[in-house]
Amino acid sequence: MQTINACQRGHRYRSSLVHPGRFTPCPRCDRLTLVALAYGDIQNPPRACRLLDFKTEGLSSAQEVVEVLEIIGSYNRFFANDVARELLPILPKLTHVAIGRECSPVIYAGIPYWTHQTIEWQGGGMGVRISEEERQSRSRQFLDAMRRADADELSDEGYAVRAWWD
Ligand SMILES: [Zn+2]
Repeated sequence: MQTINACQRGHRYRSSLVHPGRFTPCPRCDRLTLVALAYGDIQNPPRACRLLDFKTEGLSSAQEVVEVLEIIGSYNRFFANDVARELLPILPKLTHVAIGRECSPVIYAGIPYWTHQTIEWQGGGMGVRISEEERQSRSRQFLDAMRRADADELSDEGYAVRAWWD
């Protein structure tokens, strides 16, 4: 049986990990803890570990993206607010973004093949195939947005596109 829970941060989540009278972990808070550990050396106060090769699973809502970016904060020319401002308008057209660390910040964006794979998809069932031209346009829009947010490396890896900050 699943229950709907709310954590202290206000995240609402379903869980089947129900132990009467016991703590039910919030997946979003756990993720934020993991990101804080991955960027442990730049937290205030600093944590005692870091993960130089790390990536979240795919995120598919603006709120989840923003809260992860905020944990990173700033890192050289990576500024969470700038990245969020550029990323959020294109987010609904993507399948997901995964935010990580490859020594320094990295973001991978999934480019959909079908409309039902996009974050903005509301209907059930199958959508329609997205043309190759449109897929390339979405890749370009993501990479252009990350260029405006001062990313140092931008690459198209087919299914995903990558932006990395030095
Ligand atoms: Zn939470």
